[in-house]
Amino acid sequence: MVELALESVGYRYRGGHQAVTDVGLRLGPGIVGLLGPNGAGKSTLMRVLSTLARATAGRVLWRGEDIARRPDALRAELGYLPQDFGVYEALSAREFLAFLAAVKSLPARAVAGRVEECLEMVGLHDVADRRLGDYSGGMRQRVGIAQALLNDPSLLIVDEPTVGLDPEERLRFRHLLAELAGQRLVILSTHIVSDIEASAGELAIMAGGQLRFHGTPEVLIATA
Ligand code: ADP
Ligand code: ADP
Repeated sequence: MVELALESVGYRYRGGHQAVTDVGLRLGPGIVGLLGPNGAGKSTLMRVLSTLARATAGRVLWRGEDIARRPDALRAELGYLPQDFGVYEALSAREFLAFLAAVKSLPARAVAGRVEECLEMVGLHDVADRRLGDYSGGMRQRVGIAQALLNDPSLLIVDEPTVGLDPEERLRFRHLLAELAGQRLVILSTHIVSDIEASAGELAIMAGGQLRFHGTPEVLIATA
């Protein structure tokens, strides 16, 4: 069963800044919108959940196992689109994805087919031979999602994916994530409420490093 459990998770940066404090959450398949203003601790928490940073307090369990003890078990099932995702502008989308698949040590035999599937899923198949330097911001973000899907992840973490996109690209991106959810757990961080109000089954709202709300959008509206 796809399940990510956070138990009193905290993160303190070297130098002393407490960016995340006592966050408890239990998440299953579907889209979870992680909302909060700049500085709320969203990126820090996402780095912890993607094993790039290790919680300094509490623990994170993936399918019941502590990710600090077995990070590889989570990494094998993780797709991650960081906020600062960059592309090699001289490569085509097809070349870039094949390169990343090799870096992620996908079996060589499977690479070409999987690259085509991922290009198809994000709607870039017809322009896959164009150089990435000529792509729009929205197209680049779709390349970012495509690379996150290469290993067919059960957990997809996307950090502020719609920053810099125009409204049409943003809408398209929302539809794409909704299509991808299915049996996956998708965690999407944003400070733009409209990115997730329609698609997220659950919301988690952070402020000042703490979790201030977790529940459905309906419950949030009812309690507001
Ligand atoms: P976000 O857009 O998620 O709020 P920030 O603008 O806070 O990100 O941070 C951008 C980058 O600078 C990140 O890589 C973050 O780790 C780093 N950073 C942010 N605040 C500090 C800080 N006080 N000291 C050192 N690095 C920081
Ligand atoms: P958000 O993603 O919600 O904007 P962040 O997780 O980027 O929030 O930042 C949470 C807090 O941690 C902020 O106060 C930020 O300045 C601080 N911070 C982020 N990165 C670093 C860092 N590398 N070193 C020290 N403080 C940081």
